[in-house]
Amino acid sequence: MEAYIEKISIAIDGPASAGKSTIAKKIAEALHLIYLDTGAMYRSLTFAALNNQTPFDNEKALVSLLATCTIAFKMENGVQKVSLNDEDVTQQIRSMDVTNHVSEVSSHVAVRKEMVRRQQEIAEAGGIVMDGRDIGTVVLPHADLKVFLVASAEERASRRYQELTANGVEVSLEQLTEDMKARDHYDTHRTASPLKKAEDAIELNTTHMNIEEVINEMLSLVDKI
Ligand code: C5P
Repeated sequence: MEAYIEKISIAIDGPASAGKSTIAKKIAEALHLIYLDTGAMYRSLTFAALNNQTPFDNEKALVSLLATCTIAFKMENGVQKVSLNDEDVTQQIRSMDVTNHVSEVSSHVAVRKEMVRRQQEIAEAGGIVMDGRDIGTVVLPHADLKVFLVASAEERASRRYQELTANGVEVSLEQLTEDMKARDHYDTHRTASPLKKAEDAIELNTTHMNIEEVINEMLSLVDKI
């Protein structure tokens, strides 16, 4: 069992702020697996596009820009850091500016093709938990466990609001809810690998669950693999 766990792959998908990254990180920690935050990769490219003034609707220019971007992850004192061409961008990629443009950047087929290639390369050796929008459907179609995390829009916005205000960011709950719904709509309705539950994914509604309950449920799903 232990040796098998080391090699398993877990795909976690779902809409914005459904708790994917929190859960994915904890599961990876508990099972000694690698955690890959695929959203951070799209966010890093969006951050680079903002800095380079690359238009978000210019697929070709974005792909050329991506070719110059080395996006890497490393653990520092138990916190996962994201770097873009060796610069730590962990905080910057969470800015409102990046958040409001990332869906457009990630909607381009050629951008996704290169991102998926990089993600599959990282996943090749197994032993990975990945979260995103197309992990169970496109990136890891043969994942050992696929979970689709959902929660009501109000609950997701309220979680995000608490997280941001705790970090000193001033936002209105109303604006946050609007932005989140707009991003979900964009992610669900794009033509290139839209956010959707894989046929063989298990849907987990976390609206009335705390983090510990979700983790326990996930671990019991891993036990059943
Ligand atoms: O997960 P996170 O909210 O940080 O992702 C930011 C955005 O990146 C999503 O709203 C979506 O547009 C895009 N994304 C994606 N495919 C993934 C992960 C993220 O299109 N696998």
